[in-house]
Amino acid sequence: MSYDQVDIPTQGAPIRLSDTSELDIPSNPIIPIIYGDGIGSDVGPAAQKVLTAAAEATGRSIAWMRIYAGESARNRYGENLPTDTVEAIRDHRVAIKGPLTTPVGAGFRSLNVALRQQLDLYANVRPTYHIDGVPSPVKDPSAMDMVTFRENTEDVYAGIEMEAGSQKAEQVRSFIESEMGYDETMHDGPIGIGIKPITEFGTKRLVRQAIEYALENDRDSITLVHKGNIMKFTEGAFRDWGYELAAEEYSEVTLTEDELYDEYDGEAPEDKLVIKDRIADNMLQQLLTRTSQYEVIATMNLNGDYMSDAAGAQIGGLGIAPGGNFGDGLCLAEPVHGSAPKYEGEDKVNPTAMILSGRIMFEYIGWNDAGELIRDAVEETISNGEVTYDLHRQIEGGDKLATSTYADAVVDKIHELA
Ligand code: NAP
Repeated sequence: MSYDQVDIPTQGAPIRLSDTSELDIPSNPIIPIIYGDGIGSDVGPAAQKVLTAAAEATGRSIAWMRIYAGESARNRYGENLPTDTVEAIRDHRVAIKGPLTTPVGAGFRSLNVALRQQLDLYANVRPTYHIDGVPSPVKDPSAMDMVTFRENTEDVYAGIEMEAGSQKAEQVRSFIESEMGYDETMHDGPIGIGIKPITEFGTKRLVRQAIEYALENDRDSITLVHKGNIMKFTEGAFRDWGYELAAEEYSEVTLTEDELYDEYDGEAPEDKLVIKDRIADNMLQQLLTRTSQYEVIATMNLNGDYMSDAAGAQIGGLGIAPGGNFGDGLCLAEPVHGSAPKYEGEDKVNPTAMILSGRIMFEYIGWNDAGELIRDAVEETISNGEVTYDLHRQIEGGDKLATSTYADAVVDKIHELA
């Protein structure tokens, strides 16, 4: 494959999918990276430096391929999301990105959503765990050790939206009122309309990924989070299809919460994964009050977005919270936070979220030792009180470091620990 709109590295070998759908990982993979908008220009290079150090400390190397989206792509190529950017990720299988700005209301649609949809990265996975030394607003942040699987391609994020005053919005209103019979439901005057598609296919492949993860990582339960009491045929269907998938494909290794109490007196046998569900608003308070009871969450796009930011706050805030988008044989790691434009170029913000997103990417390619090294180095750096502004304002004492200095401190720790 030849590219015109990327910086092609001179060394390295591509990651490929084998005939048996396994990833072949060379010891010097080419990994595409998008720094991103706003603070992406701060956290991108900082994370890149740390990931390079961790790879080298474990006997590997990374051939970085700079690719472009958002403002950097507009400046270079006059477009927001060049085809080569999407194709380079598809072709190289594993990539990492910083945040991309999305204008509110008018303007172009989210490039993050476009990437997830074009690459069919259907699961947005957000691990939320506490790192020693990170200040938190809750009493026991270590109780949080949860992974959220957020459906990434459907729901109100699908992009089926009609602007108030547009012909499409009026056509849909008229169809809904006259053909579908909902004529007393919508107020007169301008109306904006969004459609919330939730499919059996989209639900089941997401829940399947969550169950596979829970089984592989010895987790005890999965919680399907939904607002199915109100949105019966979308969020309620998600819950029903989730249970159905578990019964169809994993009946030997799963049990429902009812079965847990009826047949096992509330004590799950070691080899069984409990499938439960919670209504989304209840779930948000349960995350605070019964944190340790939730290990793996499977939910739809919007719930997952809200919930994982709230969960992220419990373990130290957005500067810490990592994520990754997964399709079949594809991984695009990215921090949970956005482009925080007010801090752009100040060498100020916390790069930990992007660094730990790199850890997720490393685990995906089987570099668990390098991933552990990153986690340990971050933990030791923060425990030493070497932190960026966001954590510094929450602790007594400590050194307030710039983004780049903090990254250097983590690299030093990697060298010490390796
Ligand atoms: P945001 O960029 O995540 O920033 C919100 C606040 O979170 C910041 O003001 C800062 O809080 C804190 N924060 C975020 N990243 C941090 C970091 N690395 N270190 C320390 N603190 C950090 O959210 P937003 O302002 O709502 O969104 C800005 C833009 O980003 C929007 O265009 C949005 O669409 C986009 N966005 C992109 C993604 C993505 O690319 N996946 C995700 C979310 C949002 P304090 O000021 O209180 O310190």
